[in-house]
Amino acid sequence: MLLLEHHGTTDPGKVRKNNEDSILVGTGRDETLFVVADGIGGFEAGEVASSIAIEVLKEVVPSESMEDAIGEANRRILDAARGDEKLSNMGTTVVAMRFGVREEEPVAEISHVGDSRAYLLRDGDLRPLTEDHSLVAELVRSGDLTRDQASEHPQKNLITRALGAEDEVEVDTIVLPVEPGDRLLLCSDGLTDMVPEPKMLDLLASSPEGPERASHALVRAALDAGGVDNVTVVVVDVKEEEPPATPPRRGDTQEMRPVTPEEADDTGGTERRLESGNQGARALARERAAARKRARTRQKRGRSGRTLVAFVRVLAVALLLAAALTPVYLWSQSRHFLGFDEGEVVVYRGLPYAPVLNEEVRRTGLEESEVQERYRDEIEEHRLYSSEEQVEDVVNDLESSR
Ligand code: MG
Repeated sequence: MLLLEHHGTTDPGKVRKNNEDSILVGTGRDETLFVVADGIGGFEAGEVASSIAIEVLKEVVPSESMEDAIGEANRRILDAARGDEKLSNMGTTVVAMRFGVREEEPVAEISHVGDSRAYLLRDGDLRPLTEDHSLVAELVRSGDLTRDQASEHPQKNLITRALGAEDEVEVDTIVLPVEPGDRLLLCSDGLTDMVPEPKMLDLLASSPEGPERASHALVRAALDAGGVDNVTVVVVDVKEEEPPATPPRRGDTQEMRPVTPEEADDTGGTERRLESGNQGARALARERAAARKRARTRQKRGRSGRTLVAFVRVLAVALLLAAALTPVYLWSQSRHFLGFDEGEVVVYRGLPYAPVLNEEVRRTGLEESEVQERYRDEIEEHRLYSSEEQVEDVVNDLESSR
């Protein structure tokens, strides 16, 4: 048996009034599921979007496809956004990690959309498990930017995928074999924008006492570095369970069998995975129910705990730019920006910095020298506008102020 020890913490940071990040730390119907969601949208819309994602994922059972569950969260966010003008532009990133057994080996299944990340600390190395769905990540992959340039890029928070953006959402999933000693991390960009990876590695590797200390150290580092965004961290340690002091009696073996979809949909939740009529299994079920209750209590304080996980190796059982520090999703065809080309102001559709992602709409006839200083940054840094009308309003301002 393997055991998961976990702790999750979220902090609004030092600049933002509200916290648009949401977390799930082993308190859903699948107790091995951990999620970080980073909401997007003005006022409190981001909070609403990330909360909806967590509410949906809380109901996921172990046999359910994570892609389907994230797809459902996407639909629920879109439905809520359509019903309320104030929520019309909301969205959220999501990174979800759950544990199980595949081909008799314990694994973590990691699914994500957007720029919230997962990492693995193993043998003293910190390995990223996700690739951001962001403009700068695309430019790094295409060789147009280095990773260092990307981390300083003014549009590093421009994400290319999010829940709440389109009717269908594309989810990336990996399955990672895990072993005792592994430490896994989920986090929002409020951590990764503030704390460089070598520092994250130091803090994770130097907190062997447990995930609570590690997660607090990471959040503290992000706050010390400025804390300009909401910071969320979930740390999960994979451990070998200590053998019991007294050998289990006959019938106490915690055997598990594959979950059938009918059972999984039943309200019995994770307990339904246990062999019926098995006293030990019932005891385990009670233990898990009690653990869940304890976890709920702990969640109010700091969301940490230990979850007994069904890692029985023998029997198989079934992861546009609004402001520089706000992750924003984009619909490239509805985005516009301005640029200077051969001394003239030009209107483009799509996304800047990658020629394949944009096209020229029209040349304005406005000379670069006629543009007032206060507009220059907006044009040189290719500020994004959400519609053609918006960019044309700016062009009108430029024309009337020259
Ligand atoms: Mg963020």
